[in-house]
Amino acid sequence: MPDEQRTTSTATAETATAERAIADRLRLSLRGEVIDRGHPGYDEARAVWNGLIDRRPALIARCSGTADVVEAVRAAREHRPVVSIRGGGHQVAGSGVCDDGLVIDLSRMKGVHVDPAARTARAQAGVRWGELDRETQLHGLATPGGEISATGIAGLTLGGGFGFVMRTFGLSCDSLRSLEIVTADGTVRTASRDEEPDLFWAARGGGRGIGVVTSFEYDLHALGPEVAGVLVLHPYERAEDVLRAWRDATCTAPETVTPELLLWSVPALPVIPEELHGANCVMVGAVYGGPPDDGASAALAPQRELGPPLIDLSGTLPYVTLQSANTWRFPDGERYFMKSHFMDELSDEAIRTVLDWDSRRPTPESLTVIRTLGGAVARVGPDDSAFAHRSARYNVSFDAGWQDPALDEAAIGWARSAWDALRPFSSGGTYVNFAGLGEDASELRGAVFGSHEERLEGIRAAYDPEGLFAPAARRP
Ligand SMILES: Cc1cc2nc3c(=O)[nH]c(=O)nc-3n(C[C@H](O)[C@H](O)[C@H](O)COP(=O)(O)OP(=O)(O)OC[C@H]3O[C@@H](n4cnc5c(N)ncnc54)[C@H](O)[C@@H]3O)c2cc1C
Repeated sequence: MPDEQRTTSTATAETATAERAIADRLRLSLRGEVIDRGHPGYDEARAVWNGLIDRRPALIARCSGTADVVEAVRAAREHRPVVSIRGGGHQVAGSGVCDDGLVIDLSRMKGVHVDPAARTARAQAGVRWGELDRETQLHGLATPGGEISATGIAGLTLGGGFGFVMRTFGLSCDSLRSLEIVTADGTVRTASRDEEPDLFWAARGGGRGIGVVTSFEYDLHALGPEVAGVLVLHPYERAEDVLRAWRDATCTAPETVTPELLLWSVPALPVIPEELHGANCVMVGAVYGGPPDDGASAALAPQRELGPPLIDLSGTLPYVTLQSANTWRFPDGERYFMKSHFMDELSDEAIRTVLDWDSRRPTPESLTVIRTLGGAVARVGPDDSAFAHRSARYNVSFDAGWQDPALDEAAIGWARSAWDALRPFSSGGTYVNFAGLGEDASELRGAVFGSHEERLEGIRAAYDPEGLFAPAARRP
């Protein structure tokens, strides 16, 4: 056997022995399942929401509770595999799974407890937004979550958390009261404003790679069960006029209103005339963060009156329906890539650039989304949490979606080119939760954390001096 081949087969044998050793250890100590490459459920367990991701971890530790997480972290300390942490599995870059290493998988940790008197909820890290909303809405309460009910609360909260009512109630991470986290030394800690304040600071926007969060305690706010919202579809031919008028209306919107604009294809819904289905359109949405009869119509009117629409679907609807209304448009297993800019303003030229690139969208599933920040998001001090974009007024994201692998290059290329074209208008920042596959890690970290990067690195080094979670921190 040639030397090179012998070295390779020795390395392969050593790797297989190490994988067996960690698997044996985990099988003895975990209550949850340990899934290796030979397990019949391996392919299902390694799959994430984005079908573009095809990673093959050595082991998946499906934790059933905090004690399992502690055991997984201890095993990782001993055997030093690459570690990734999986919550809801929705990060576009697929960072919840890794090749060859150990996935600490929290997706089966689904406990939710609501305390309506204290207006708090504690949720384990495998919970998804739809599952949390369902429980809190029993009491007419909500914590501001993401806009798609299938996304995990974990990754979304740890990266900040945009949602339909963020101008009223802040980012998801702004409603965090405390969290339980297993740090690299295997210790279970509570982080809050009073306990482990550095970890708590980092977790709110910079929470990747500081440890494994096992549960989140959120403040709840009175909202629902019915909420008032705007959803108006405008013809694509009028996109530039609508965008400008929308931009002007966002500048005077009260904090009770969170406006959003999507350039997308008309959904095939029974309430929409069939001849419109699939056509490009401008979708203007806004949600009122309070009781529907409490001045909602007047506050929402400027979002609703931006010219003659194709169709106006505005009205009141249950909060849980709102939160899951678009979930069907992002099915599991299709291919996705996203990239976003924070913007301080939307100049006419920026609008033209957005539209120029939007008009080249590669598939009907792809879309461009402009979210409005400000309000409660901006009221949190710029250095009060690791989230570094408090003063930005907008986030613009180019979201490519497609099914055919032959379109990979064109779809990813579209999002990247559109992002490049808009860069001159950006405030220089990007949102970690929308970061796509194959981003340059060091460039990304600067754009995500800005001046907070140094403090964040210091906190990581203090809690994880041996860099157990360094790979998890480097991935978006
Ligand atoms: C269809 C869709 C809609 C979206 N809509 C929104 C939206 O409205 N608002 C918004 O802000 N974002 C949105 N996102 C982005 C979303 O916030 C991120 O994808 C987020 O990472 C999802 O969290 P997850 O737990 O599902 O992700 P995962 O892929 O499981 O995890 C992402 C990363 O977070 C870290 N992580 C996860 N769990 C833990 C844990 N328990 N402890 C420590 N680290 C952990 C890991 O580093 C992991 O790599 C959307 C994404 C998709 C795909």
